[in-house]
Amino acid sequence: MALRDSHRLFLQSFMSRGILPSKEVRQLYQQACERFGEASDLGRLAEFVNRINIKISPLHLQIKKGINEVTAAQYYGLVNTAESDITRLSSTYTVNELEFYKKIIESIVDSDDGVMSSTDALNLTSQLEKKMLKKDAEDLISKFERDNWLELNPKGEIALSTRAILELDQYIQNQYPNLAVKCNMCHRLCLQGETCSRCDVKLHFSCAERYFDKQEKHHCPSSACNAPWPQDSRRPCRPSDPSAASTASNSEENLTNHTTRSKSRR
Ligand SMILES: [Zn+2]
Ligand SMILES: [Zn+2]
Repeated sequence: MALRDSHRLFLQSFMSRGILPSKEVRQLYQQACERFGEASDLGRLAEFVNRINIKISPLHLQIKKGINEVTAAQYYGLVNTAESDITRLSSTYTVNELEFYKKIIESIVDSDDGVMSSTDALNLTSQLEKKMLKKDAEDLISKFERDNWLELNPKGEIALSTRAILELDQYIQNQYPNLAVKCNMCHRLCLQGETCSRCDVKLHFSCAERYFDKQEKHHCPSSACNAPWPQDSRRPCRPSDPSAASTASNSEENLTNHTTRSKSRR
């Protein structure tokens, strides 16, 4: 089935912006339908997006859904599915800049809490083959942040952005099969979340909140472990967000690509 003008208009926004919050995606869908005199039905948004995905898959593009690991807000991003390497960013950054970004990714994936201090990030320049001044590295981190590849939390720590996680999910899993951990609940890559004190089970903050909500005593969801779950002080207090995961409609959930391939850690 061919794409209609409404599909094309919808897709254009993703081409120019890369990633959009769920709430805006729903508005965009309604506006695109209205503009071309079509009835919009939010229950059919997933179908609408899937039709676009079928058409753009030969171009190795896909509109994929993801969550912000801290706020649990949902996003849709247009991602490149062809390369599982980071070279796709090479039109914007030099080889040395990409090397620096890779080092940041590695440190974040290797960390327990999915963040790193900016001082630690700047120190990574000493590991680069080609010299990079700390001042230049500082500017570069700001550029990665502006381009939505890194995110700074209120404490000034560096984390991978929602866009980076959506886009580089496969790269991270290929590159660091022993370090990349998936959330025990949603089976998505989990960098910032809660970790069991005994085993390697990890949960996104929002997934932990939902899972433990039904339990009086908090235990590791792995039946083989079942250790008491640490009361995590890092769980952020989230403002109620209308696009948070718990309010997702089933039709939107259909977009989520659940992969359950598990990898043992370290
Ligand atoms: Zn999760
Ligand atoms: Zn455990």
